[in-house]
Amino acid sequence: MERTFAIIKPDAVAGKKAGQILARIEEAGFTVKGMRLTHLSKAAAEGFYAVHRERPFFGELTDFMSSGPCVLLCLEAPDAIRKWRTLMGATDPAKADAGTLRRDFGTSIGNNATHGSDAPETAAFELGYFFRGMETL
Ligand code: GDP
Repeated sequence: MERTFAIIKPDAVAGKKAGQILARIEEAGFTVKGMRLTHLSKAAAEGFYAVHRERPFFGELTDFMSSGPCVLLCLEAPDAIRKWRTLMGATDPAKADAGTLRRDFGTSIGNNATHGSDAPETAAFELGYFFRGMETL
């Protein structure tokens, strides 16, 4: 078993797609081990995306991620990190495969509905950034 960190981003929550996305997560075989609705501050978003701070879109990204509530998730499955990245699809919804969440719910490369950790080290940092141990039993 492996755990990964996921976010249903503010665009999807505002668009009332969180329920549909959660259903797709469960249908795909993930177990939800932790879940919280939160409205990130700009500083919290900047800390989370610190690896991207030199990128030209850092301001836009952190404005967007702090623009409204999002759903934070700890997901468990065999090979969860790769499996969740596959279910999300490519960063740009226009380039994401048919049947992926970003293709179905994203509207632009910034507003792409979901986040997922890209490696075990990232998953460990991201899960620890948002969840205390007793919240992901
Ligand atoms: P991911 O791992 O597929 O989420 O992609 P990245 O790690 O490359 O980028 C992190 C997030 O930054 C993406 O999910 C997008 O929301 C956002 N992002 C990436 N490229 C752009 C861009 O060119 N413009 C804007 N506004 N946001 C971007």
